[in-house]
Amino acid sequence: MTSEPRYTTAEMDAGDRLFRRPWDFVRGAPSPEALPAADRPEVAFAGRSNVGKSSLLNALVRQRRLARVSQTPGRTQELNFFAAPDVACYLVDLPGYGFAKAPHGKIAAWTGLLAEYLRGRATLARVFLLIDARRRLKPADRSVMRRLDDAAVSYQLILTKADKIPGEALADALAALAAAAAEHPAAHPTPLATSAITGDGIDLLRAEIALLLAERGSDPSLHEPA
Ligand code: GDP
Repeated sequence: MTSEPRYTTAEMDAGDRLFRRPWDFVRGAPSPEALPAADRPEVAFAGRSNVGKSSLLNALVRQRRLARVSQTPGRTQELNFFAAPDVACYLVDLPGYGFAKAPHGKIAAWTGLLAEYLRGRATLARVFLLIDARRRLKPADRSVMRRLDDAAVSYQLILTKADKIPGEALADALAALAAAAAEHPAAHPTPLATSAITGDGIDLLRAEIALLLAERGSDPSLHEPA
């Protein structure tokens, strides 16, 4: 794969250790009042329904069922929070959007709870915005990118299901995402390609999250002896 950012061995190891911890479901928040206290850094995962978000989360934490891999696209409506012992961080699974069979698309959901969450969450270190490698950026994704820009929430584009397209097409898709990211002020310049099936890129995403936490002074594993 091209355009992969390089991480040091220590950073890769920190990512590996971080996600060997027993991550567990903490709570689902169907309303702003139900959000846990913003007392630690968090990273959130967003994307169109069926983009592979549950699969990516499960691959990250090396568990089969942490996040439900839904047979019914668009089912999850809550913000789901996950945590691990001794790690000052939440992983946040945001509701999927843009499912074609929903009456007005799940984008509508982003105007309520999610808009409030994104605007008011100072501890939100980054949103990983998942894009299906075969489908590229859709208008719904662009709309979410604009919302994140407006809310000044840092986000990074992550290609999912990279195993579904050949290497050359994947390089093109990554280049297209990098070009799109360059047009959006809050977008991280370097997209990552991942596959929950082959595991490609999952270690890079782990390292990226460990780095983010280290920058916020909250990843003990980066400083642990190997
Ligand atoms: P979500 O709705 O975004 O949570 O998506 P899911 O994780 O439920 O995945 C949607 C569908 O895509 C399921 O049939 C998964 O098996 C499939 N899928 C998810 N990730 C991958 C991947 O990396 N590669 C392939 N080939 N299929 C995937």
